[in-house]
Amino acid sequence: MPNLSGEMRYFIIELDAAVEAHLDWTRRVMRCAVLQASPGDDVLSSQAHQLCRFGHWIGLQRPRFEKLSVLKTRQLEAVHQAMHDAIRALCTNILDGKPGGGADLEVFEQSQSELIGLLAWFKTQFLAEAMCNDPLTGLPLRYGIEDEFIQSQKAVRREQTQLYVAMIDVDHFKDVNDQYGHAVGDKALQHLTRSLSNALRPNEPLFRFGGEEFLLMMQCPSPEAATIAAKRIVEQVRNSPMPLDHFAEPIRMTITLGLTLVQNGELLDEVVERADRALYAGKNSGRDRFVMLNG
Ligand code: GH3
Ligand code: MG
Ligand code: MG
Repeated sequence: MPNLSGEMRYFIIELDAAVEAHLDWTRRVMRCAVLQASPGDDVLSSQAHQLCRFGHWIGLQRPRFEKLSVLKTRQLEAVHQAMHDAIRALCTNILDGKPGGGADLEVFEQSQSELIGLLAWFKTQFLAEAMCNDPLTGLPLRYGIEDEFIQSQKAVRREQTQLYVAMIDVDHFKDVNDQYGHAVGDKALQHLTRSLSNALRPNEPLFRFGGEEFLLMMQCPSPEAATIAAKRIVEQVRNSPMPLDHFAEPIRMTITLGLTLVQNGELLDEVVERADRALYAGKNSGRDRFVMLNG
């Protein structure tokens, strides 16, 4: 499986298990028909769709499915119930010594195929979403930057404001890993992400660009406003040390931020390259600061 968080991995395993279990119903109905053996009391219950493992699980996970599509979540639950109802009707007839109904068989086959199709659709969507987000910090990864950049360029044109891009790099982060170990380093990056996010407004998307580097877009009415925002972000991180257990001194982190104004029609690569130069100017002049460099 791709680079997924433990929780997401478990989620996908449950989805795969649901597909397998419901494909297996073809074999189970056949066994019931040939051997006249009950597939189990829970299957014959009118609540079978809720008693099955998937039915129980999706009841708990519904909001997550609905976030992707309310309509498809409803369809999923409806075909799941229809499939269990058809299985119950088929098996009850067979166990009563009657032939199974052709209409029930039709519904069973149809709803099974729709259920598997819908589960495959959800799996693709969940995986695509997981691939675009960093499992450590929860931030979007760089794949989405280009789209967001184009949207932000449109927004500043419409609202007659300015777009700024900031490259942010944690200062001396290697020292954190060296002193406390990689696992604490990971926690420090999560903590830092929260500090950064607390300093941002809703229209200031933040991406994990790589390692301990982040990219931020800001829509500001003026260079002064951009300067104030950059200063606020640097200060927020400086003033948010990560507490440690055992009365140890908290981990203090700082960032350097390279800021640049996006010119009309500029490509993202050019902007990133300039923001990077601003960042390195900030590193070379002492870190824990921002530098603005415009084209
Ligand atoms: P500078 O101020 O010049 O940026 O110094 P630095 O130590 O931050 O820079 P350097 O590029 O030498 O080291 C970056 C470190 O960040 C090394 C790398 O192992 C660490 N790092 C990158 N991503 C992660 C991560 O996901 N988890 C942890 N724990 N460490 C990471
Ligand atoms: Mg660094
Ligand atoms: Mg770096």
